[in-house]
Amino acid sequence: ARPRLVVIGGGAGGATCARYVAKDSDGAIDVTLIEPSEVYYTCFFSNLYLGGFRTFESLAHRYDKLANDYGIRLIRDMAAGVDREARVVTLAGGETVEYDRLVIAPGIDFREGSVPGWDLSKADIMPHAYKAGPQTQLLKSQVESMREGGLFCMIAPPNPYRCPPGPYERVSMVAHLLKEKNPSAKILIVDPKPKFSKQALFEEGWQKHYPGMIDRIGPDFGGDKVEVRPETMEVVIDGDVQKVDVCNVIPAQKAGAIATAAGVTDDSGWAPVDPHSMASRVDSNIYVLGDSSAQGDMPKSGFAANSQAKVAAMDIRSQLIGSKRFPARYSNTCWSLIDTDDGIKVGASYEATDEKIASVSSFISQTGEPADLRKATYEESLGWYAGITADIFG
Ligand code: FAD
Repeated sequence: ARPRLVVIGGGAGGATCARYVAKDSDGAIDVTLIEPSEVYYTCFFSNLYLGGFRTFESLAHRYDKLANDYGIRLIRDMAAGVDREARVVTLAGGETVEYDRLVIAPGIDFREGSVPGWDLSKADIMPHAYKAGPQTQLLKSQVESMREGGLFCMIAPPNPYRCPPGPYERVSMVAHLLKEKNPSAKILIVDPKPKFSKQALFEEGWQKHYPGMIDRIGPDFGGDKVEVRPETMEVVIDGDVQKVDVCNVIPAQKAGAIATAAGVTDDSGWAPVDPHSMASRVDSNIYVLGDSSAQGDMPKSGFAANSQAKVAAMDIRSQLIGSKRFPARYSNTCWSLIDTDDGIKVGASYEATDEKIASVSSFISQTGEPADLRKATYEESLGWYAGITADIFG
């Protein structure tokens, strides 16, 4: 019988890994992908949808090619448990799936209680929009129907979290939308972190494109002592009650629940991995990819998850069918759009040390860059999106 690879989670990490193992093993490995959704909406570029630069449908990707072109067996269900001794995954529907190697790539879940007053049952009033889909649509419709001169509030998350520049790109895109439709509206960021990704670049851009619109309260002014009251649309910052019109709560995060259920996470809430292979430090038959893993110097991004998936796919093929493996190399770039044609980026390349995935060189856009360079950076991101979604979904 063919050796069996089972992948939990058809996102940037899991779908890439399934595709690369299937593609490069020419049918020698039996690949199964467990994913409950029929359509995957990318979080990447979901902020551009908020800003009106992309349609919602342009974020949608389906799994048909993985099944039809690469022979991957799709199971549309949630993985509910993993028996590591028996090497069996149990599905929410009750069936079981046996594996020789297992990939766990379920993305993130939210830490309960991280924003007092908020839990998932309040997400229809105060959306997180940090897993793309209906939440992203809800947030956009709330911004569009905000009263004239209203207040949009974002509760930003503490580190580490999915997409470090994501909240600040989102603020830029909301500001872009408001500047067109509701120019007297204001944006308030309540932030538990003293500093954030590409801060100087975002702040320069906000001053240039949206002067006077965006305020940020950091931990020195109580940004880390926040509570929300969804029923009355109030945000309480260090005891001060603030009435808001739209509130985007991005809670603290941890590995997707199935990683914890499988026993591969530690006290940090993330799954430690061997930087040479992305195999779990706890169980070498399991690989943890993307946001759920404790990935050293890499940020939690779709680019990073896709890059890790290829390292894992190479290791899995070498383990299961003896194909050659090369030293692990990783890369990442995170682009962000501040306003029309004003794109910025930050990125790095990485190598594996025994201790962690370690950054070996990095780059970042500079303040004061000319407009044509910013436009070229934005255009580069469009090419990246087309390329990476084809690399993930075939
Ligand atoms: P995901 O892509 O979230 O995939 C996880 C999959 O697992 C999901 O499809 C889910 O349904 C499935 N799943 C979960 N639990 C189970 C289970 N028990 N059983 C079966 N399936 C399960 N990254 C970039 O590189 N560039 C960007 O510009 C960028 N912008 C972003 C903007 C925003 C607003 C946000 C929120 C994120 C952004 N990201 C960006 C980050 C990127 O989306 C994530 O880092 C990336 O999706 C992580 O990939 P993943 O495979 O770990 O998880």
